[in-house]
Amino acid sequence: MTARERAAQLIEAFREVYPGAHCELNFKNPLELLVATILSAQCTDKRVNMVTPKLFAKYRTAAAYANSDPATFEKEIQSTGFFRNKTKSIRAAASAVVAKHRGKVPDTMEQLNALPGVGRKTANVVLGNAFGKAEGVVVDTHVARLSQRLRLTKHNDPEKIEADLMKIVPREHWTMWSHWLIWHGRRRCFARKPDCSQCEVLRLCPSGKIYMRTGEARPADATS
Ligand code: SF4
Repeated sequence: MTARERAAQLIEAFREVYPGAHCELNFKNPLELLVATILSAQCTDKRVNMVTPKLFAKYRTAAAYANSDPATFEKEIQSTGFFRNKTKSIRAAASAVVAKHRGKVPDTMEQLNALPGVGRKTANVVLGNAFGKAEGVVVDTHVARLSQRLRLTKHNDPEKIEADLMKIVPREHWTMWSHWLIWHGRRRCFARKPDCSQCEVLRLCPSGKIYMRTGEARPADATS
């Protein structure tokens, strides 16, 4: 089976298994999702969702983030980790949104990616989930790990993985594809001990058959 054929069958399977898959960060508009996505680096969505209600109530515009007091903001997001860098990124991105986009989060890859602290992954999250635009595939640690285990890519670099996925996953599924892999990574295909014996896509997974024989994932695959 080619990678493209496997991807097509995986789409059918994941649709059945995770019909309600969605972005697990809470947000009501593009600005909130941009902030939540920056906060989610090296942090669980659950933790981010504990911090954002107060944050979103206090900072309602890009200008509010841009003009926030850094020391206060750091305290407000401290529990998400890497709070100094995240504070810098959010304030800088918000300042650029104010200066270059009249306070509105832009809706193109080029413009989002040009905001300070906003990489391709964050831009893809915002475009796909806040604007309903599939301009790429979100590749986080789960999508990277599962794409490798499912033998859909040989790469480690997220942008190369994304390029491989964009070739074999039809564009209309790009946003859901990431949700499906993230959901499966969180619920079944764990980094260190994938639950292959219970896996709904075992028949489509070349690695699962190996793991079932050897008893555990190869150390090289246990990336997080
Ligand atoms: S069979 Fe195992 S390695 Fe493959 S997707 Fe399922 S849990 Fe992951």
